[in-house]
Order: sequence, then structure tokens, then C-alpha cells
Amino acid sequence: MQLLDGKLVAQAVKEQLKVKTADRVSQNKKRPHLAAILIGNNGASETYVASKVKSCEEVGFTSTLIRLEESITENELIFKLNELNEDFDVDGILVQLPLPRHISEQKVIETIFPTKDVDGFHPESVGRMVQGLPTYFPATPYGILLLLEHYKIETKGKHAVVIGRSNIVGRPISILLNRNDYPGNCTVTVCHSHTPDLAAVCLQADIIVAALGKPLFLKADMVKEGAVVVDVGITRVEDPSKKSGFSIKGDVDFDAVAPKCSYITPVPGGVGPMTIAALMMNTFKACEAKD
Ligand code: NAD
Repeated sequence: MQLLDGKLVAQAVKEQLKVKTADRVSQNKKRPHLAAILIGNNGASETYVASKVKSCEEVGFTSTLIRLEESITENELIFKLNELNEDFDVDGILVQLPLPRHISEQKVIETIFPTKDVDGFHPESVGRMVQGLPTYFPATPYGILLLLEHYKIETKGKHAVVIGRSNIVGRPISILLNRNDYPGNCTVTVCHSHTPDLAAVCLQADIIVAALGKPLFLKADMVKEGAVVVDVGITRVEDPSKKSGFSIKGDVDFDAVAPKCSYITPVPGGVGPMTIAALMMNTFKACEAKD
């Protein structure tokens, strides 16, 4: 069993971006700029946005963090997004989800210009991805592709089982693993909360992507010998032994599943850091597109 070390690969991706950014700046080209909007005081969202801002610093991007009150209206948020859309210096815009209940996530996603949609959630970005046209892939699925690519994992002709069909992880990774490219060319089965006998489906998989948000859901008897397992899940579970009071659990029962795998991602240190690295890649590309 080999670990798919997202922390290590993310660092390598960021090192490359750092060199490329310094190169741009030395040629008097524009420095990539990511604007992040954080609404309210959600602890997990704070952590995610802080890591994104820190990564921008590491690679030499400009970052703007805009903190907004939980009480902000949808119109005020849309106004802010339009300002960022019109700001030439801003290459990528992200709004940290989830949003307060009174704000429509769909409306917010559709307000961001597709040219600045570094999260890859806009319907135009998704449509282009489905049709195999150049676009920004959603950061988590893109991070998974970068990880598979780094470890040169064969995907062609493999059976990939994706557990979860959300717009941000399950559905896009199922499309990307199915595309005619590398990584891709898998036969993909997408499972969800209404899939009967999920264990039998998973047992047929050469590659499993677990993205359902149920800690330790995937057990050893659901995985065939030699499978590649990618654990997207991040759930905070109470843990009095930790200073923070919680620990992070993936969707895979790692200790039991790992010995059966050819490759497996740990949680933390797998898909999480790759998501941020992929976001940095998208921001860099959005900047380059303006050259
Ligand atoms: P979601 O709740 O939007 O979607 C979960 C999906 O899992 C749904 O499609 C649902 O049908 C399916 N599902 C739920 N229970 C199931 C079951 N028992 N059997 C089969 N399918 C089932 O979640 P999401 O936003 O896609 O996130 C999934 C997990 O990934 C969460 O833990 C989230 O925190 C994590 N996540 C991690 C990253 C990262 O960077 N590592 C990024 C995004 C999400």
C-alpha cells in the first residue's frame, strides 16, 4: 500500500506556481490575485479561507479577504461580487460556502463571471467541463486529478465508483474520470443515498472516490484487493483528547481499508491540501488568460 500524500504533492504544485509567479513578475506581467469572501463566523469556513489566503502568500499571489456579516443581504453580496467582477486586478473570486440560509447559493454562483470562476461552480464552467472544453474544474475534483497524475496511477479502462453526487465533488469527479483524457477513461458508476447494495458495487471498483460526508463509512469488506481509494470526506467529530475539542475524520475506515489498497489518501493530508493547490492553479490560469 502506498499513501497518496496530498500534503507533499500540494507543496510541489505550490512550489511550481511560486517559480512561475516570480517569473511572471520579473517580466512585468500581472501578479495573480484571488479575492475570497467569508460570511459570518463558521469555524470550518474560517479555517478553509485562512489556508487559502496562506497559500496565496506562499506562492506569491495577491489575496484579498473580504469578511461580511452574517446579516448581509443577498443584494448587498451580489453588489460586492459585481464590484469584484469589474475589478481588473482580481483574477479569481471565491465565496466560501455554506452561505447563510437567506442567500441563494445558486444566485451567488451565477453572479461570478465565468472568467473569474476559479471554484468552477458556474453552470457555464460545468457545461464546458462536461463538453471537454477548456474551463476551470471545481477545485476538489481537479485536486484529485492532480494527485492521480502525480502518482502516475493508471485510470484508462478502470472501473471507478464514486460515492456521492454533489455538484462540488461527486458529480464533477465522475465526469472527469469518465472523460477521454488522462486521468480519465474510466467506466464510472455514481452511487448516492438511494443506491441499493452499495457494498456490492464498491467491491467491483478499481478506484473508489468516497465523497459522502459520513465518517468511516467505507469498510474493508467493501473494497477489493489492490483498489485505489480516494477519501474526500471531512467531518469534525468530537474528541475531548484534542485541544480543539474535535478531530477530522474521512469517509473511509482508513486503518481497516488501507492494507487492501494499492494506493489510498489519508485524512487529513490527502484531498484537502490538493483542493487548495488546485484553487491556486485555477487562479494562476485565470491570470495567465489575461496576458
Ligand atoms: P453533500 O452532502 O453535498 O453530498 C453528499 C452525497 O453523498 C450526496 O450526493 C448523497 O446522495 C450521498 N450520500 C449520502 N449518504 C450516502 C450513503 N449512505 N450512501 C451513498 N451515498 C450517500 O456533500 P459534499 O459537499 O459532496 O461533501 C462530501 C464530503 O466531502 C463532506 O465530508 C465534505 O466535508 C467533504 N469535502 C471535502 C473537500 C476537501 O477539500 N477534501 C471538499 C469538499 C467537500
